[in-house]
Amino acid sequence: MSKVLEVKGLTTQFESKNGPLTVVDQVDFIVEKGEVLGIVGESGCGKSVTSLSILQLLDKHGTISSGEVFYQNINLVEKNEKEMKKIRGKEISMIFQDPMTSLNPVLTIGKQIGEVIEQHEKLKGQEVKQKVVKLLQLVGIPRADEIYHEYPHRLSGGMKQRVMIAIAIACNPTLLIADEPTTALDVTIQAQILDLLRSLKDEMDMSMLLITHDLGVVAEMCDRVVVMYAGQVVETTDTRTLLRHPKHPYTIGLIQSTPHQSKGEKRLKSILGQVPTPDQFSHGCRFVERCPKAMEICQSTAPPLYDVDSHTSCRCWLYENKGDVI
Ligand code: SF4
Repeated sequence: MSKVLEVKGLTTQFESKNGPLTVVDQVDFIVEKGEVLGIVGESGCGKSVTSLSILQLLDKHGTISSGEVFYQNINLVEKNEKEMKKIRGKEISMIFQDPMTSLNPVLTIGKQIGEVIEQHEKLKGQEVKQKVVKLLQLVGIPRADEIYHEYPHRLSGGMKQRVMIAIAIACNPTLLIADEPTTALDVTIQAQILDLLRSLKDEMDMSMLLITHDLGVVAEMCDRVVVMYAGQVVETTDTRTLLRHPKHPYTIGLIQSTPHQSKGEKRLKSILGQVPTPDQFSHGCRFVERCPKAMEICQSTAPPLYDVDSHTSCRCWLYENKGDVI
């Protein structure tokens, strides 16, 4: 397989009144062609900031302080805004969590999808309209000709997310980044949107980076998974291994607190405590306050990422003698 995206040592900081805070810390991962890579973790673990950093969509307080983001061997970190505008939507597209706020309420659906096509392709007038109607049909919107003229408030949440997906795939991107694409939707609609994303990925030969807190979504969609905690990668492996043989105590906690993944258990176990904010990160392991297996060394010294086997890495002192430091 060839690499579509390679993130190397990505570190993103945000300004605060007490100085810069590191929200994403030395993150590494690869998205291979045709695969769905999941990034999983609770809110506040740095998943969304990682995806916004890839596309340079951070707000004015955030900066990439070090690292590289290679998209097909081009380092996106070195690109300016004009160059990024040519890549966003055309090469790499993004679907956001909340379709209710992502669409412009004063523009028709047709206009909003058409704008992306006009920006990246040499199509005009009726050609654009025909392509928009085809896209609406492709994402399963009924009466596409009529919906073309509608405003977003006339559509349900699920239909709005289908429109967002139509915008994202309008120019046949190579990589689709989906940030919690079903979190804001009703449970019944969530499954439909996941089905749609899966079939579009196959039909259009896309790769996907899927950001989620939901291990059920990971089980349904992902080939491989990166688990993030407090801004760092703590485990990387294939989905089957992650769900059946999780290594990191945080991953084990996530699985035990997921209804779907802990069948047989009479009670769900929650992970005690909360994800620390960047100004509370421990000098030792960042999970130490919540970890049922914490040892003395965990308080004082941060664990490196160990290569546990050929496809699994884990940031935990429990694996000190079971793998090489990456
Ligand atoms: Fe738990 Fe220690 Fe491993 Fe951190 S390094 S996850 S505290 S056992």
